[in-house]
Amino acid sequence: MAEINRAIKGTNDMLPADSHKFQFVEGKMLEIASLYGFREIRVPVFEHTEVFQRSVGDTTDVVQKEMYTFDDKGGRSITLRPELTAGVVRSVIEHGLVNGALPVKVCYVGGCYRYEKPQAGRLREFHQFGVECFGATSPAADAEVISLALQVLQTVGIKNISLEINSIGCPECRKNYTAALSEYFASHVDTLCETCRDRLSRNPMRILDCKSPICSKIAKNAPKVIDFLCDECQEHFDGVKAHLDAAGIKYTVNPQIVRGLDYYTKTVFEFVSGDIGAQSTVCGGGRYDGLVSQMGGAAVSALGFGMGIERLMLALENQNAEFPEAKKCDIYIAPMGETAAIKATELCTALRRDGFEAQCDVCGRGLKAQMKYADKIGALYSVVLGDNELAENKCNIKNMKTGETQEIRLDNFSEQFMKIKLDDALSSLEDTII
Ligand code: ATP
Ligand code: MG
Repeated sequence: MAEINRAIKGTNDMLPADSHKFQFVEGKMLEIASLYGFREIRVPVFEHTEVFQRSVGDTTDVVQKEMYTFDDKGGRSITLRPELTAGVVRSVIEHGLVNGALPVKVCYVGGCYRYEKPQAGRLREFHQFGVECFGATSPAADAEVISLALQVLQTVGIKNISLEINSIGCPECRKNYTAALSEYFASHVDTLCETCRDRLSRNPMRILDCKSPICSKIAKNAPKVIDFLCDECQEHFDGVKAHLDAAGIKYTVNPQIVRGLDYYTKTVFEFVSGDIGAQSTVCGGGRYDGLVSQMGGAAVSALGFGMGIERLMLALENQNAEFPEAKKCDIYIAPMGETAAIKATELCTALRRDGFEAQCDVCGRGLKAQMKYADKIGALYSVVLGDNELAENKCNIKNMKTGETQEIRLDNFSEQFMKIKLDDALSSLEDTII
């Protein structure tokens, strides 16, 4: 029987106490992407299954083992997106975006679904921030998206992160490489796992990405794709390195990186954190020049990355990173009695229209309980409204931090509050300067 009070294994709730952290991180992601000219795109959480089979590749772990696939009531095979690139490419083709001015630069934040074994940094529902750039062939574009990812990571305050890059070439140079790889793995065929034995004839490069300990041990000594690059791919890779050097971005070339999805060509890269254990890749991406045409669109080159938001948060948490404080209630209005409660509603309405977070009693509680609540939520100011205050059309406003009170009239309340808050902010600024 389903447990209705427990979330599905591998899924997380984001609770209100943490939402300001996620809002900060996701806000910075979109803000920094916009500095590079990337605009937000939103695509559906599910697509026709073929969208992922055709793009991610049907010999990959993601497609073979990890997808949430089901038939809908119309008998169509539907899959919850395991990543966003495929859906974005489908959308870009469908809406003819790549027929206009190039490059087209898009970014997104959204949920992804993979049936994986849940553990630290590996969830069944997780979220990715990502960017995709269409129609840019120059190595400058590769360096640009890498630089964007790095700026995001640095801005949210991550430390101990390293960039690893590699080139996995184009279909042309991969022909020779695949032949060499097949020969190598054929000599180990008896020890490979069952899935990899099947991959040997269909797509031997995928064996390099197998998570089974035996396969990854064999893969360590396999021929390296970087030794098989054609002149054009070599030149491109040298160009990427030159642009990264120019941007002052440090990297290491790691010939082992091939990425888990089939669509990559030429540049691939990962940002790896030293603080989150085995699932250490916070961001992975690269170029996928053949994907748009393979999906039925024009022959435009493309590149991008996906950054795992939960893994990033885990790294920040493990590093005790500081986040901007959660927004506090500006003012709590505590009414005593029904008439005062009506007045409190009037004042709160005006305050909120002016952009203040204002709260008043909505539980019919007594004064003591109300003040306890105001304290608990960290209200910056409070006022008590009783019969006397209503009769005199004024009340005392209390600065909850300093304990100081001052008189405030009930008419034009919001304007006066604005002035009080500003004056207090100025004098506490003076205090810190002195
Ligand atoms: P891994 O090697 O960890 O399985 P991957 O190669 O499958 O990663 P990508 O498909 O490139 O990952 O996804 C990009 C990023 O999304 C990863 O670097 C990671 O930060 C995050 N990610 C991928 N799968 C998960 C997951 N199951 N749970 C949480 N984050 C994930
Ligand atoms: Mg994976």
